[in-house]
Amino acid sequence: MTESFFDIDRKIIEIAETAQNECGEMFAEIDKTAEYNGQKVLSAFIKNRVSEGCLKGTTGYGYGDMGRDTLDKVFADAFGGEDAIVRHTFVNGTHALSTALFGVLRTGDTMLAATGKPYDTLEEIIGIRGEKGSGSLKDFGIGYIQSDLIDEKYPDYDEIARLAPKAKVAYIQRSRGYSLRPSLTVDIIGKIAETAKKANPEIIVMVDNCYGEFVEKREPLSAGADLIIGSLIKNPGGGIASTGGYICGRTDLVERCADRLTCVGMGKEVGCSLGQNRDMFMGFFFAPQTVAAALKTSVFACRFFEKLGYRTLPSSGEKRTDIIASVLLENEENLMAFCQGIQKGSPVDSYVTPEAWDMPGYDSKVIMAAGAFTMGASIELSADAPIREPYAAWLQGGITYPSGKTGVMLAAQEMFKKGLINI
Ligand SMILES: *Cc1c(COP(=O)(O)O)cnc(C)c1O
Repeated sequence: MTESFFDIDRKIIEIAETAQNECGEMFAEIDKTAEYNGQKVLSAFIKNRVSEGCLKGTTGYGYGDMGRDTLDKVFADAFGGEDAIVRHTFVNGTHALSTALFGVLRTGDTMLAATGKPYDTLEEIIGIRGEKGSGSLKDFGIGYIQSDLIDEKYPDYDEIARLAPKAKVAYIQRSRGYSLRPSLTVDIIGKIAETAKKANPEIIVMVDNCYGEFVEKREPLSAGADLIIGSLIKNPGGGIASTGGYICGRTDLVERCADRLTCVGMGKEVGCSLGQNRDMFMGFFFAPQTVAAALKTSVFACRFFEKLGYRTLPSSGEKRTDIIASVLLENEENLMAFCQGIQKGSPVDSYVTPEAWDMPGYDSKVIMAAGAFTMGASIELSADAPIREPYAAWLQGGITYPSGKTGVMLAAQEMFKKGLINI
């Protein structure tokens, strides 16, 4: 029992048990999706004849790397794309997104951000922040237009239809990222794609799929997107891949992205896999279950903190399309204690105390709790929070549900211990 391993107040344990019991229906739904997606992935492995040889790696040029080429096909089949490029040499999700944008856009083209301002790290790539001459899309003569979300929530379909004829790419961000706007379901992404394509049949619909993979039964490619892009230290790496990213979708577009990642004319045919194939295969195989663990942690955390009197986004009962939840903690003391409690429940670095610091690019201090096997992996239980209104902690991950649940309980315990919650 939990009581014997951790110093958690009996009342907190009771509230947690009640909260967990109330999550039964949501958990059953999550399990169903994980079973469906697990079968989808397994069948992609079988169809593409993944063999023991695929798990080994190449060195040097990497010509004829069977594992690398098979992994691309497995991703493509599971995500409903024609082709994919899955590489440990994508240094992060931003790099994969940047590769896709530079791969597809040319001088004179315009990018339309269809769901408001994209994730922070994209700003310098686009050229809406940073220095002239840095090599942004803007420096290469690529234009940028934006359709904001209405009330910071809903896509502005009229505006998207009006702007689409001017654009080569319609760019959609599925996850909330670190904003308070809702994440976009695959259905809504489909509606945006349909709207953009009706106004401009040539437009390329590109989706930042970070944090979204395997949360629903469908991925955006089956709803009209042409390319999806993500990070392997989030959902599709299953908590096992040590680094990397993917781009998946239309063959001609994947080829352009591959030429951008390596060299024009070489594309996907080069790039040794070193020892990474096995972890990437295994991670993708585990991913539907890992995502289910993260989702259960998220639903539980929301229910539990709702019971403690806090608002969460999404609420515990809301349908998910990514693994992120924000807990609105109302003041700095709560926020600090919450993050420090999460850290105490980490399998790695549990003994360190996270502090708020001035992170480059932010206008307020930021506190981050993460004790992960893979540095910065946010499929593992982690919490980040800028110290400002509305004092929200962005919580994500949990590669196993029991450890995720324990981390969340320890966050509450830390608040309780400091006299911040009355129960
Ligand atoms: C994580 C994330 C990215 C990429 O971030 P990296 O830290 O570079 O992997 C991009 N968009 C969204 C919405 C994300 O959540």
